[in-house]
Amino acid sequence: MPIYKYKCAKCGNIEELFCSYNQRKEKEKILECSKCNSVKLNPVFTKVLVSSKEREIPEEHFNEDDCSSCSGSKCNTCY
Ligand SMILES: [Zn+2]
Repeated sequence: MPIYKYKCAKCGNIEELFCSYNQRKEKEKILECSKCNSVKLNPVFTKVLVSSKEREIPEEHFNEDDCSSCSGSKCNTCY
């Protein structure tokens, strides 16, 4: 199962969710920062999410100027 990470918009604390994709939406609803109890958490994309590239693009892919890693297949930068 993938690990989803969320960064608190208020204090910058990282919360981790360990669940399937379907469970994720339910857990996001009740997710809150363990430090400041804020419910404003932004997802942090990690390499773990590469397998679900239709829905989520890893953060580092966004920052790539030339797409050497995808060797000509579809991606956000070399489409
Ligand atoms: Zn917080």
